[in-house]
Amino acid sequence: MIKQYSGISPNGDLLLIQKLSEKLQGKSFLHINSTREGGGVAEILSRMIPLLLDIGIDARWEVIEGDSDFFNFTKKTHNALQGDKEKFTKKMWDYYYEVNKRNSKKLDLSADAVLIHDPQPAPLIGFRPRSKKNLWMWRCHIDVSRPMESVWTNLKKYVKQYDTAIFSVSKFAKSMPKVDEFIVTPSIDPLSDKNRELTEDEINEVSERFGIPRDKPIILQVSRFDKFKDPIGVINAYKIVKKYNDCQLILAGSPASDDPEGEAILDEVKEYAGADDDIHILMMPPDYHKEVNALQRMSDIILQKSIKEGFGLTVSEAMWKEKPVIGGAVGGIPLQIVHGVTGFVVYSSEGAAFRIRQYLNNPEMARRMGQQGKEYVRNNFLLTRQIRDYLSLWYLSKFKGKNMIEL
Ligand code: UDP
Repeated sequence: MIKQYSGISPNGDLLLIQKLSEKLQGKSFLHINSTREGGGVAEILSRMIPLLLDIGIDARWEVIEGDSDFFNFTKKTHNALQGDKEKFTKKMWDYYYEVNKRNSKKLDLSADAVLIHDPQPAPLIGFRPRSKKNLWMWRCHIDVSRPMESVWTNLKKYVKQYDTAIFSVSKFAKSMPKVDEFIVTPSIDPLSDKNRELTEDEINEVSERFGIPRDKPIILQVSRFDKFKDPIGVINAYKIVKKYNDCQLILAGSPASDDPEGEAILDEVKEYAGADDDIHILMMPPDYHKEVNALQRMSDIILQKSIKEGFGLTVSEAMWKEKPVIGGAVGGIPLQIVHGVTGFVVYSSEGAAFRIRQYLNNPEMARRMGQQGKEYVRNNFLLTRQIRDYLSLWYLSKFKGKNMIEL
């Protein structure tokens, strides 16, 4: 499998993966998150685990279970960590711990390296098997640059017990004296159904199935229906553009089992869109990877107009398909969009509308930026680079406290 990346991923990354995997052969690497389907974390894990196994790492992926009270609470904490003001009680925090405790009894937590993704399973650190040799890492995928302080304070009680904390963007890193902190950006898999090349027939089949005519330019945003993805702002941008340039808009999303707010936001978006035949709102099953790929490939311009964002994998996905992109200037989006080179970052619906029109009116510029975007993703945001980073920091953790010159 890893061989298939030769000629696609940078050679240096493949070489480092080979060398590091020789050092870590047969060691166990456990990942835990809160959903198997929906959202960027599940997307990455579903692709990374088979590849880790292929290079001789004994990788495992577990998912914690919870009821609606648990996921309503964790979604509230998610919103508050991204800056919303929410109300919390001690009882809620106790329940959060309690659900994790229950999960700890069901899950096999023994592994040489454990990577806990996001706040939902963070308290599992309290149930770490006693062994000095294992490495416990907490990986934050959300935008914690300006959290509601009391929520971060509560979460930090758990995070500071980890050996290592990993953030997607340096702006998110926190001061925790005893925790090693690293920045590791997420990544996309160029060989997955979500990103592989598609034939024209495959793309046409999807456009026909979803009833999307291809007679006018298509603007697309693919996202969970979440207010921080700003679907309403996207519709506003489209409405401005529509006064001058004929075009259509697709808002495509799917549910995630750890996101209970999706349906309410979807209803709001549908109502706001009104009866415009050129707005297509698609709610798809979470495993529609080829369909998302086809939607991205049939589009002329791809938006990720988030107002808060962890990383925004959809941006790299679009850039890999050589699409001109426009993204909100938040979270990991400006790491992917080099403004004016690989796309445009924007701060408002008006800004997004302006850039959409600029692309529509300058197809040559749009094409050039799309091509630049693909190369930028190749060098920075492919799955192999992320595996390289995880293996590097795992391997280097063995030398903690030692003089690196002696290695
Ligand atoms: N996604 C999908 N179907 C959808 C909506 C999203 O497959 O209807 C995928 C999308 O292609 C991307 C991931 O879910 O791979 C979303 O990751 P991102 O980092 O953009 O946002 P998150 O949902 O993690 O906040």
